[in-house]
Amino acid sequence: MAGENILIVEDEEDIAELLEYNLARQGYHAEAVDTGEKGLQICLETLPDLMILDLMLPKLSGLEVCKKLKSDPATAGVPVIMLTAKGEEEDIIAGFEAGADDYVTKPFRPKVLLARVRALLRRGAVSRKSADDELIFESIRIHIGRHEVFSHDEKVDLTNTEFRILYFLASRPGWVFTRRQIVKSVHGEDYPVTGRSVDVQVAALRRKMGISGDHIKTVRGVGYKMGD
Ligand code: CA
Repeated sequence: MAGENILIVEDEEDIAELLEYNLARQGYHAEAVDTGEKGLQICLETLPDLMILDLMLPKLSGLEVCKKLKSDPATAGVPVIMLTAKGEEEDIIAGFEAGADDYVTKPFRPKVLLARVRALLRRGAVSRKSADDELIFESIRIHIGRHEVFSHDEKVDLTNTEFRILYFLASRPGWVFTRRQIVKSVHGEDYPVTGRSVDVQVAALRRKMGISGDHIKTVRGVGYKMGD
């Protein structure tokens, strides 16, 4: 345990305390604040290794906090786990679109939340390390500089857009991305967003990738991810 710093932004005192207690027991340094404004300020000052952010906050909402955090290059790299109400699919989608990296629904079991924290910290460490020119996921090998993709060592011909979608998903295995996030990452902010066009691209990508295409998973009601 490296004693990572975790910032909790939660206005419900009992939940904040429960989180602090459980994180501290696992060896993390946890700090809790009760407004989004304080959360943003502390985040900028201390650059925590991870933020647990409640969606429902007084004044500045969790979504607004997340958007601000992710649009500031200084804090954009801080992974965010959003706390949302159970069954609110819209909240989950909005959270991902605001840039959240994962979510946990309330009420949650501390064990589940801790597992998500560990996973997210681990993914962060991995993605920081893999700055080399090749990305390998299971049977898929992506050569970034040459724009080449191999499935089971066989070269696959992809369009530029298909390549970028594949690369985007594979660069963060297990992360769920909304269609809008995929469009944004592939074309930049100006491209007209249609969820349908992403579906068409992904369908073509899966077909071309053959068996390896099965690694691209549909997350119902949300979007897509690479692997489980
Ligand atoms: Ca709250």
